[in-house]
Amino acid sequence: MKSLLIVCDGMGDRLTDGKTPLEAAKTPNMDKFAKKGITGIMDTVRTGIRPGSDTAHLSLFGYDPFRVYTGRGPFEAAGVGLELKRGDVALRCNFATLKNGKVIDRRAGRDEYGLKELTREVSKIKFRDTEIKFKKCAGHRAVLILRGKGLSSRVTDTDPETLNVPPARSRSIDGRPESRKTAAILNEFTRKTEEILSEHVINKRRKLPANVILCRGAGTKPELESFEERYGMNAACISATALIKGVCNSIGMKVIDVKGATGHVDSDISKKAKTAINALKKYDFVFLHIKGTDEASHDGDFNSKKEMIERIDREVIGPILEKVKDTTIVLTADHSTPISIRQHSADPVPIAILGDVRTDQVDKFTERECSKGGLNRICGIDLMHIILDLSDRAELFGA
Ligand code: ZN
Ligand code: ZN
Repeated sequence: MKSLLIVCDGMGDRLTDGKTPLEAAKTPNMDKFAKKGITGIMDTVRTGIRPGSDTAHLSLFGYDPFRVYTGRGPFEAAGVGLELKRGDVALRCNFATLKNGKVIDRRAGRDEYGLKELTREVSKIKFRDTEIKFKKCAGHRAVLILRGKGLSSRVTDTDPETLNVPPARSRSIDGRPESRKTAAILNEFTRKTEEILSEHVINKRRKLPANVILCRGAGTKPELESFEERYGMNAACISATALIKGVCNSIGMKVIDVKGATGHVDSDISKKAKTAINALKKYDFVFLHIKGTDEASHDGDFNSKKEMIERIDREVIGPILEKVKDTTIVLTADHSTPISIRQHSADPVPIAILGDVRTDQVDKFTERECSKGGLNRICGIDLMHIILDLSDRAELFGA
């Protein structure tokens, strides 16, 4: 039996005026899904741990993030097609805005104007014995790779993650020469980007200048067994988000790009659903990721999140229920992103599984209803075992 895993990023929530966005949204198809399936709630990484999207997805695919995760940078790099070598240090970066030496916008107004040209300028930065690769990703984001002898990812970020302070100074975490050298290079990189970008003509035309690069999430190439080797299923990923594509890429999934998939609330998710349905002909395991729910959550926009959920219900879950047969289908989220706090939280997410399952009494796909379901409260790292079992691919433990 084949499997389809649908993850709506950051879909879980807490209550706003007595309801979560999932509860407020009209979702007849998700409710049908819950009614026919088995439901529960899930701690994607571990109870009480606030998951990043990368660690959450690793866990959902059965890779223990506490063991394999080295940082976000390498996955961002893999997601934009930058090949990491052993010893490289990868970081994710933002174009940001400085005023009088202080960060006043960490995303340079989310304005992409001229960032390609600025990327070319930043790429010219040179260090004595360390090569850099710098590539622009979606929006204001970019990836930096440091390549050379004696580098380490045990360094702190230059992104202060807060406003009205100068860029943070990278420091060595373990006090070793490799990390001290890497921190020094990062601090020099910050200074050089400031110098090059501040004077650039592009920035005279932008509403908010993109006059510094802030880096975070330093990591080295993670050692990951391939998904196919591990589970005996060939797998495809449909996502518009570089980080998630990077995670999937790193475990050998085929990443299928969909035109019109943006990773925002305006994404052509109907096309993504069609692509997923088609991919099931060729792949044993298809993973469909939808990001808009998380975007709306970070913006603290309840209505936008509710509308996104309703669109997913109509344009994704509806067609999948209609067309996909004889498949284990999982509908869930990678973490909660409550509107009230505009960031990821450890609140468990709802999950429903369709297929050859022991259907329970739950008939609504919401956080609180699913908590009454037959799966009870599970951990993300166990999801693949459950999928393998329900798809009749699990091996017997013992005799
Ligand atoms: Zn996420
Ligand atoms: Zn998020």
